[in-house]
Amino acid sequence: MLYIVYTTGQCNLQCVYCSGSFPEHVVPWRVKYPLKSLVRFISEDSEAIIAFYGGEPLLNHKFIRKVMDSIDWTKFVIQTNATLIHRLDEKYWRRFDTVLLSIDGIKDVTDYYRGRGVYAAVVKAAKWLRQIGFEGDLLARMTVSEESDIYRDVTHLLSLEIFDHVHWQLDVIWSNRWRNFDYWLHSSYMPGTTRLMKYWISEMENGKVLGIAPFKAITYAIITGSPLERPPCGAGSSAYTILTDGRILACPIAVYERWAHAGHLSQDTPKTLRKYSLGSPCTECPYLDYCGGRCLYAHIERLWGEHGFRKICDATKYLIDLLRGERERVSKMLKSGIVSIEDIKYPPFNNTVEIIP
Ligand code: SF4
Ligand code: SF4
Repeated sequence: MLYIVYTTGQCNLQCVYCSGSFPEHVVPWRVKYPLKSLVRFISEDSEAIIAFYGGEPLLNHKFIRKVMDSIDWTKFVIQTNATLIHRLDEKYWRRFDTVLLSIDGIKDVTDYYRGRGVYAAVVKAAKWLRQIGFEGDLLARMTVSEESDIYRDVTHLLSLEIFDHVHWQLDVIWSNRWRNFDYWLHSSYMPGTTRLMKYWISEMENGKVLGIAPFKAITYAIITGSPLERPPCGAGSSAYTILTDGRILACPIAVYERWAHAGHLSQDTPKTLRKYSLGSPCTECPYLDYCGGRCLYAHIERLWGEHGFRKICDATKYLIDLLRGERERVSKMLKSGIVSIEDIKYPPFNNTVEIIP
Protein backbone atom coordinates (compact mmCIF):
# COMPACT_ATOMS: atom_id res chain seq x y z
CA MET A 1 0.00 0.00 0.00
CA LEU A 2 1.08 3.58 -0.68
CA TYR A 3 1.14 5.96 2.29
CA ILE A 4 1.37 9.63 1.37
CA VAL A 5 2.91 11.17 4.48
CA TYR A 6 2.48 14.90 5.02
CA THR A 7 5.52 16.35 6.74
CA THR A 8 3.95 19.82 6.97
CA GLY A 9 1.00 21.82 5.71
CA GLN A 10 3.33 24.73 5.01
CA CYS A 11 4.77 25.68 1.62
CA ASN A 12 7.53 28.14 0.72
CA LEU A 13 5.99 28.96 -2.67
CA GLN A 14 2.65 30.41 -3.68
CA CYS A 15 1.85 28.73 -6.95
CA VAL A 16 -1.20 30.00 -8.77
CA TYR A 17 -2.79 26.53 -8.59
CA CYS A 18 -3.03 26.16 -4.84
CA SER A 19 -1.87 29.47 -3.29
CA GLY A 20 0.65 27.98 -0.89
CA SER A 21 0.30 26.72 2.66
CA PHE A 22 -2.74 25.10 4.22
CA PRO A 23 -4.10 26.94 7.25
CA GLU A 24 -2.28 25.58 10.28
CA HIS A 25 -5.51 24.53 12.02
CA VAL A 26 -6.45 22.37 9.01
CA VAL A 27 -3.06 20.76 8.26
CA PRO A 28 -0.59 21.49 11.09
CA TRP A 29 2.81 22.70 9.96
CA ARG A 30 4.55 20.32 12.37
CA VAL A 31 3.97 16.61 12.87
CA LYS A 32 1.75 16.22 15.95
CA TYR A 33 1.90 12.46 16.45
CA PRO A 34 4.81 10.45 17.88
CA LEU A 35 7.10 8.90 15.27
CA LYS A 36 6.58 5.50 16.87
CA SER A 37 2.87 5.61 15.90
CA LEU A 38 3.86 5.91 12.25
CA VAL A 39 6.49 3.18 12.55
CA ARG A 40 3.98 0.85 14.25
CA PHE A 41 1.37 1.52 11.57
CA ILE A 42 3.75 1.08 8.63
CA SER A 43 5.23 -2.09 10.14
CA GLU A 44 1.84 -3.79 9.68
CA ASP A 45 2.37 -3.61 5.92
CA SER A 46 5.29 -5.52 4.43
CA GLU A 47 4.71 -3.89 1.01
CA ALA A 48 4.48 -0.32 2.19
CA ILE A 49 5.59 2.62 0.07
CA ILE A 50 6.12 5.96 1.79
CA ALA A 51 5.73 9.17 -0.21
CA PHE A 52 6.67 12.43 1.52
CA TYR A 53 4.27 15.22 0.68
CA GLY A 54 3.07 18.63 1.86
CA GLY A 55 2.96 21.68 1.69
CA GLU A 56 6.60 21.50 0.77
CA PRO A 57 7.88 18.33 2.46
CA LEU A 58 11.49 19.56 2.69
CA LEU A 59 10.42 22.36 5.05
CA ASN A 60 10.35 19.53 7.59
CA HIS A 61 13.44 17.67 6.40
CA LYS A 62 14.19 16.65 9.99
CA PHE A 63 11.06 14.52 10.07
CA ILE A 64 11.95 12.93 6.71
CA ARG A 65 15.37 12.04 8.12
CA LYS A 66 13.84 10.54 11.26
CA VAL A 67 11.41 8.41 9.26
CA MET A 68 14.15 7.18 6.92
CA ASP A 69 16.40 6.42 9.88
CA SER A 70 13.62 4.40 11.56
CA ILE A 71 12.23 2.51 8.57
CA ASP A 72 14.33 0.56 6.12
CA TRP A 73 11.92 -1.90 4.54
CA THR A 74 9.76 0.40 2.41
CA LYS A 75 10.18 2.13 -0.90
CA PHE A 76 10.55 5.90 -0.61
CA VAL A 77 9.05 8.58 -2.83
CA ILE A 78 8.97 12.37 -2.52
CA GLN A 79 7.04 15.11 -4.30
CA THR A 80 8.85 18.40 -3.94
CA ASN A 81 9.10 21.83 -5.56
CA ALA A 82 12.89 21.26 -5.48
CA THR A 83 13.79 24.69 -4.12
CA LEU A 84 15.04 23.25 -0.79
CA ILE A 85 16.70 20.15 -2.17
CA HIS A 86 19.96 20.67 -0.25
CA ARG A 87 18.22 20.42 3.11
CA LEU A 88 18.44 16.65 2.88
CA ASP A 89 21.83 14.96 2.79
CA GLU A 90 22.96 13.16 -0.34
CA LYS A 91 22.82 9.73 1.34
CA TYR A 92 19.06 10.15 1.89
CA TRP A 93 18.44 11.21 -1.71
CA ARG A 94 20.19 8.11 -2.98
CA ARG A 95 17.69 5.98 -1.04
CA PHE A 96 14.65 7.31 -2.87
CA ASP A 97 13.05 5.06 -5.47
CA THR A 98 11.15 7.93 -7.11
CA VAL A 99 11.65 11.68 -6.90
CA LEU A 100 8.97 13.90 -8.43
CA LEU A 101 9.92 17.52 -9.09
CA SER A 102 7.18 20.03 -9.87
CA ILE A 103 7.82 21.81 -13.15
CA ASP A 104 5.26 22.75 -15.77
CA GLY A 105 7.27 22.84 -19.00
CA ILE A 106 9.24 25.70 -20.52
CA LYS A 107 10.64 28.42 -18.26
CA ASP A 108 7.94 31.00 -19.06
CA VAL A 109 5.08 28.67 -18.17
CA THR A 110 6.71 27.28 -15.02
CA ASP A 111 7.68 30.68 -13.69
CA TYR A 112 4.30 32.17 -14.62
CA TYR A 113 2.44 29.64 -12.47
CA ARG A 114 5.02 28.87 -9.76
CA GLY A 115 7.06 32.05 -9.37
CA ARG A 116 10.13 33.65 -10.90
CA GLY A 117 13.26 31.50 -10.76
CA VAL A 118 11.45 28.24 -10.05
CA TYR A 119 12.23 26.70 -13.45
CA ALA A 120 15.97 27.31 -13.02
CA ALA A 121 15.88 25.94 -9.46
CA VAL A 122 14.17 22.73 -10.54
CA VAL A 123 16.51 22.08 -13.46
CA LYS A 124 19.52 22.73 -11.22
CA ALA A 125 18.15 20.38 -8.54
CA ALA A 126 17.46 17.64 -11.09
CA LYS A 127 21.03 17.85 -12.41
CA TRP A 128 22.41 17.82 -8.86
CA LEU A 129 20.45 14.67 -8.04
CA ARG A 130 22.07 12.93 -10.98
CA GLN A 131 25.52 14.25 -10.02
CA ILE A 132 25.28 12.83 -6.50
CA GLY A 133 24.40 9.41 -7.86
CA PHE A 134 20.61 9.27 -7.55
CA GLU A 135 19.69 6.26 -9.67
CA GLY A 136 15.94 6.06 -9.12
CA ASP A 137 13.11 7.32 -11.27
CA LEU A 138 13.30 11.10 -11.70
CA LEU A 139 9.99 12.59 -12.73
CA ALA A 140 8.95 15.96 -14.03
CA ARG A 141 5.52 16.47 -12.53
CA MET A 142 3.57 19.02 -14.49
CA THR A 143 0.37 20.84 -13.79
CA VAL A 144 -1.24 21.66 -17.10
CA SER A 145 -3.37 24.77 -17.44
CA GLU A 146 -4.40 27.44 -19.92
CA GLU A 147 -0.86 28.74 -20.62
CA SER A 148 0.37 25.18 -21.27
CA ASP A 149 1.02 23.75 -24.69
CA ILE A 150 1.15 20.03 -24.03
CA TYR A 151 3.34 19.16 -27.02
CA ARG A 152 5.79 22.02 -26.48
CA ASP A 153 6.02 21.56 -22.72
CA VAL A 154 6.36 17.76 -22.58
CA THR A 155 8.89 17.64 -25.43
CA HIS A 156 10.84 20.46 -23.80
CA LEU A 157 11.13 18.55 -20.52
CA LEU A 158 12.16 15.38 -22.36
CA SER A 159 14.75 17.32 -24.35
CA LEU A 160 16.55 18.29 -21.13
CA GLU A 161 17.55 14.62 -20.87
CA ILE A 162 17.51 14.67 -17.07
CA PHE A 163 14.05 13.30 -16.34
CA ASP A 164 13.20 9.62 -16.77
CA HIS A 165 9.50 10.36 -16.96
CA VAL A 166 7.13 13.23 -17.48
CA HIS A 167 3.65 13.16 -16.01
CA TRP A 168 0.94 15.80 -16.04
CA GLN A 169 -2.28 16.56 -14.27
CA LEU A 170 -4.88 18.88 -15.73
CA ASP A 171 -5.66 21.84 -13.50
CA VAL A 172 -9.35 21.08 -13.50
CA ILE A 173 -12.36 20.43 -11.24
CA TRP A 174 -11.16 22.49 -8.24
CA SER A 175 -9.91 25.31 -10.43
CA ASN A 176 -12.10 28.21 -11.52
CA ARG A 177 -9.28 30.13 -13.18
CA TRP A 178 -10.03 29.05 -16.72
CA ARG A 179 -11.02 31.77 -19.15
CA ASN A 180 -12.17 29.32 -21.80
CA PHE A 181 -11.55 25.66 -20.98
CA ASP A 182 -13.58 24.35 -23.95
CA TYR A 183 -11.62 26.41 -26.44
CA TRP A 184 -8.26 25.37 -24.92
CA LEU A 185 -9.31 21.71 -24.80
CA HIS A 186 -10.29 21.55 -28.46
CA SER A 187 -7.83 24.00 -30.01
CA SER A 188 -4.73 23.28 -27.93
CA TYR A 189 -4.83 20.20 -25.68
CA MET A 190 -6.44 17.66 -28.01
CA PRO A 191 -4.36 18.53 -31.12
CA GLY A 192 -1.29 18.75 -28.87
CA THR A 193 -1.78 15.27 -27.41
CA THR A 194 -2.29 13.90 -30.93
CA ARG A 195 1.00 15.44 -32.05
CA LEU A 196 2.72 14.20 -28.92
CA MET A 197 1.41 10.68 -29.41
CA LYS A 198 2.63 10.65 -33.05
CA TYR A 199 6.07 11.73 -31.84
CA TRP A 200 6.01 9.05 -29.13
CA ILE A 201 5.14 6.36 -31.66
CA SER A 202 7.73 7.54 -34.20
CA GLU A 203 10.46 7.41 -31.54
CA MET A 204 9.25 3.94 -30.55
CA GLU A 205 9.75 2.84 -34.14
CA ASN A 206 13.42 3.74 -33.64
CA GLY A 207 13.50 1.53 -30.55
CA LYS A 208 13.17 4.34 -28.01
CA VAL A 209 10.23 4.48 -25.60
CA LEU A 210 10.04 8.06 -24.35
CA GLY A 211 9.07 8.35 -20.71
CA ILE A 212 5.66 9.90 -21.15
CA ALA A 213 3.97 8.36 -18.12
CA PRO A 214 0.28 8.46 -19.15
CA PHE A 215 1.07 7.09 -22.63
CA LYS A 216 3.11 4.23 -21.23
CA ALA A 217 0.66 3.22 -18.51
CA ILE A 218 -2.47 3.38 -20.68
CA THR A 219 -0.78 1.61 -23.61
CA TYR A 220 0.43 -1.14 -21.27
CA ALA A 221 -3.15 -1.62 -20.03
CA ILE A 222 -4.49 -1.72 -23.61
CA ILE A 223 -1.85 -4.14 -24.90
CA THR A 224 -1.95 -6.54 -21.96
CA GLY A 225 -5.69 -6.22 -21.36
CA SER A 226 -5.05 -5.53 -17.69
CA PRO A 227 -7.39 -2.78 -16.51
CA LEU A 228 -6.16 0.19 -14.51
CA GLU A 229 -6.84 0.28 -10.80
CA ARG A 230 -10.02 2.14 -9.84
CA PRO A 231 -9.11 4.96 -9.34
CA PRO A 232 -5.63 4.71 -10.91
CA CYS A 233 -4.03 6.72 -8.08
CA GLY A 234 -5.31 4.08 -5.64
CA ALA A 235 -7.07 6.70 -3.46
CA GLY A 236 -9.10 4.94 -0.79
CA SER A 237 -8.11 1.45 -1.89
CA SER A 238 -4.34 1.06 -2.20
CA ALA A 239 -3.25 4.59 -1.29
CA TYR A 240 -3.93 6.64 1.82
CA THR A 241 -2.69 9.94 3.14
CA ILE A 242 -1.44 10.50 6.68
CA LEU A 243 -1.84 14.12 7.76
CA THR A 244 0.44 15.80 10.29
CA ASP A 245 -2.26 15.48 12.97
CA GLY A 246 -2.57 11.72 12.44
CA ARG A 247 -5.80 11.75 10.45
CA ILE A 248 -5.78 9.31 7.55
CA LEU A 249 -7.46 10.40 4.33
CA ALA A 250 -8.41 8.65 1.12
CA CYS A 251 -6.91 11.46 -0.99
CA PRO A 252 -4.12 13.92 -0.21
CA ILE A 253 -5.94 17.01 -1.35
CA ALA A 254 -9.24 16.24 0.42
CA VAL A 255 -8.16 17.84 3.70
CA TYR A 256 -11.50 19.61 4.24
CA GLU A 257 -13.88 16.87 3.08
CA ARG A 258 -15.54 14.63 5.68
CA TRP A 259 -16.09 11.77 3.23
CA ALA A 260 -12.32 11.45 2.85
CA HIS A 261 -11.69 10.54 6.51
CA ALA A 262 -10.62 6.92 6.34
CA GLY A 263 -9.17 6.46 9.82
CA HIS A 264 -6.63 7.69 12.33
CA LEU A 265 -3.04 6.72 13.00
CA SER A 266 -3.75 6.19 16.70
CA GLN A 267 -6.73 3.88 16.19
CA ASP A 268 -6.33 2.06 12.90
CA THR A 269 -4.17 -0.44 11.11
CA PRO A 270 -3.83 -0.57 7.31
CA LYS A 271 -6.50 -3.28 7.30
CA THR A 272 -9.14 -1.28 9.21
CA LEU A 273 -9.04 1.80 6.97
CA ARG A 274 -12.29 2.68 5.22
CA LYS A 275 -12.46 1.42 1.63
CA TYR A 276 -13.91 3.47 -1.22
CA SER A 277 -15.36 2.53 -4.56
CA LEU A 278 -16.60 4.33 -7.63
CA GLY A 279 -20.23 4.66 -8.66
CA SER A 280 -22.13 6.05 -11.62
CA PRO A 281 -21.34 7.16 -14.30
CA CYS A 282 -17.95 5.40 -14.16
CA THR A 283 -19.38 1.97 -13.35
CA GLU A 284 -21.39 2.05 -16.60
CA CYS A 285 -18.72 3.71 -18.71
CA PRO A 286 -17.18 1.71 -21.59
CA TYR A 287 -13.84 3.49 -20.93
CA LEU A 288 -13.60 2.40 -17.29
CA ASP A 289 -10.91 -0.26 -17.84
CA TYR A 290 -8.49 2.28 -19.28
CA CYS A 291 -9.60 5.33 -17.32
CA GLY A 292 -10.15 3.75 -13.93
CA GLY A 293 -12.56 6.55 -13.03
CA ARG A 294 -9.64 9.00 -13.22
CA CYS A 295 -9.92 10.70 -9.80
CA LEU A 296 -11.89 9.79 -6.66
CA TYR A 297 -11.97 13.42 -5.50
CA ALA A 298 -13.47 14.66 -8.76
CA HIS A 299 -15.83 11.68 -8.84
CA ILE A 300 -17.28 12.55 -5.44
CA GLU A 301 -17.06 16.34 -5.44
CA ARG A 302 -18.02 17.20 -9.08
CA LEU A 303 -17.07 20.82 -8.40
CA TRP A 304 -17.62 21.69 -12.06
CA GLY A 305 -21.06 20.03 -11.99
CA GLU A 306 -22.21 17.09 -14.07
CA HIS A 307 -21.57 18.88 -17.35
CA GLY A 308 -18.07 19.91 -16.27
CA PHE A 309 -17.28 16.38 -15.12
CA ARG A 310 -18.18 15.11 -18.61
CA LYS A 311 -15.86 17.64 -20.22
CA ILE A 312 -12.91 16.11 -18.38
CA CYS A 313 -14.16 12.69 -19.43
CA ASP A 314 -14.02 13.95 -23.05
CA ALA A 315 -10.31 14.73 -22.59
CA THR A 316 -9.68 11.29 -21.06
CA LYS A 317 -11.65 9.42 -23.72
CA TYR A 318 -9.84 11.32 -26.44
CA LEU A 319 -6.49 10.23 -25.02
CA ILE A 320 -7.57 6.61 -24.63
CA ASP A 321 -8.93 6.51 -28.19
CA LEU A 322 -5.68 7.95 -29.52
CA LEU A 323 -3.65 5.24 -27.82
CA ARG A 324 -6.12 2.52 -28.75
CA GLY A 325 -5.73 3.60 -32.37
CA GLU A 326 -2.02 2.70 -32.16
CA ARG A 327 -2.59 -0.73 -30.66
CA GLU A 328 -1.77 -2.63 -33.86
CA ARG A 329 1.40 -0.67 -34.53
CA VAL A 330 2.65 -1.11 -30.98
CA SER A 331 1.80 -4.84 -31.06
CA LYS A 332 3.84 -5.21 -34.26
CA MET A 333 6.80 -3.43 -32.68
CA LEU A 334 6.57 -5.73 -29.68
CA LYS A 335 6.37 -8.80 -31.92
CA SER A 336 9.37 -7.78 -33.98
CA GLY A 337 11.35 -6.96 -30.83
CA ILE A 338 11.89 -3.26 -31.62
CA VAL A 339 10.70 -2.56 -28.09
CA SER A 340 9.69 -4.83 -25.22
CA ILE A 341 6.64 -4.77 -23.01
CA GLU A 342 8.94 -4.01 -20.07
CA ASP A 343 9.96 -0.78 -21.83
CA ILE A 344 6.31 0.28 -21.87
CA LYS A 345 5.25 -0.91 -18.41
CA TYR A 346 4.77 1.99 -16.00
CA PRO A 347 4.75 2.70 -13.11
CA PRO A 348 6.62 -0.23 -11.56
CA PHE A 349 4.74 0.42 -8.28
CA ASN A 350 2.36 3.11 -7.07
CA ASN A 351 4.77 6.04 -6.95
CA THR A 352 1.97 8.68 -6.77
CA VAL A 353 1.73 9.01 -10.55
CA GLU A 354 -2.04 9.11 -11.09
CA ILE A 355 -1.74 7.88 -14.72
CA ILE A 356 -4.82 9.65 -16.10
CA PRO A 357 -4.05 13.37 -16.52
S1 SF4 B 1 -14.32 8.58 -18.78
FE1 SF4 B 1 -15.43 9.63 -17.14
S2 SF4 B 1 -17.24 8.38 -16.74
FE2 SF4 B 1 -15.78 7.13 -17.90
S3 SF4 B 1 -14.65 6.00 -16.32
FE3 SF4 B 1 -13.48 7.87 -16.82
S4 SF4 B 1 -14.14 9.39 -15.32
FE4 SF4 B 1 -15.66 7.74 -15.27
S1 SF4 C 1 -6.16 11.68 -8.66
FE1 SF4 C 1 -7.84 12.58 -7.46
S2 SF4 C 1 -8.35 11.06 -5.89
FE2 SF4 C 1 -6.35 10.54 -6.72
S3 SF4 C 1 -4.90 11.52 -5.35
FE3 SF4 C 1 -5.24 12.96 -7.03
S4 SF4 C 1 -6.91 14.29 -6.35
FE4 SF4 C 1 -6.90 12.49 -4.99
